[in-house]
Amino acid sequence: MAKLKDEGISVGLAVVIVGDDPASRVYVNSKKRACEEIGIYSEEYALKGETTQEELIELVKKLNEKDDINGILVQLPLPRHIDEEAVINAISPEKDVDAFHPVNVGKIMIGNYDFLPCTPAGVMELIAESEIDLAGKECVVVGRSNIVGKPMSMLLLHKNATVTICHSKTKNLPKVIKRADLVVVAVGRPEMVTGDMIKEGAVVIDVGINRLENKKLVGDAHFESCKEKAAAITPVPGGVGPMTIAMLMKNTVKSAKLKAGRK
Ligand code: NDP
Repeated sequence: MAKLKDEGISVGLAVVIVGDDPASRVYVNSKKRACEEIGIYSEEYALKGETTQEELIELVKKLNEKDDINGILVQLPLPRHIDEEAVINAISPEKDVDAFHPVNVGKIMIGNYDFLPCTPAGVMELIAESEIDLAGKECVVVGRSNIVGKPMSMLLLHKNATVTICHSKTKNLPKVIKRADLVVVAVGRPEMVTGDMIKEGAVVIDVGINRLENKKLVGDAHFESCKEKAAAITPVPGGVGPMTIAMLMKNTVKSAKLKAGRK
């Protein structure tokens, strides 16, 4: 960051939260803390739950024009009366550091992109750091959300994996998971994938974050039983979550660099 400052490049992130969802508050606080830690200027807009879609879009448009803001993050989910797609579409693609805008989604599909969505990008970093060669590997992604499952599958495909995408209508999920060399679970069901479902030596990447009634945080994979068979497994908390935040920081810095005419 100091180097960027020396070059006259400032980096700013606007974080917008609507309502008082406790999980969203935790995520927003972590993102703001990460900004502070690495020296990114951040602004928080905490709006009341009754905020209208028009008011929210009005704010997004203002942030699009704001010179000291390079990234706009609208924390999802939004209250039911607000159409998330309309809000995402209002964010300038150049400031869309979550990479949810259709322009950025299209670029990812083609494989020529500026930003990657933070969670799948974080997973790819973990895979790269672990020196896992994906070419020809059987990869199974469980979950097909626009935020995680779909872009995750595309990024694995770009690395020449053979990718299978599973969802709630998939028949015989354990059998599909069993053939995976690498499985990414992004479902939102506590400890759904158990050790008996995975192949010996598989890599398990657990995106899920679930809070149990006893307040304990667990993933979508049953850590203890999967650990027995997996070559590697990401823990929850502490695995994919921090990587997601790191990628948000990376995207915000990239946005500032692009604005300054740098790659
Ligand atoms: P969504 O609810 O948007 O999507 C869940 C997906 O799981 C859907 O595609 C759904 O299928 C599928 N699914 C549901 N039940 C089953 C089942 N029994 N068998 C197979 N597939 C099933 O969730 P997200 O993608 O937004 O998030 C998934 C998890 O990841 C959550 O726990 C979330 O908290 C966590 N998360 C973590 C992040 C991090 O930074 N670590 C970031 C974002 C999310 P269908 O499409 O058919 O309904």
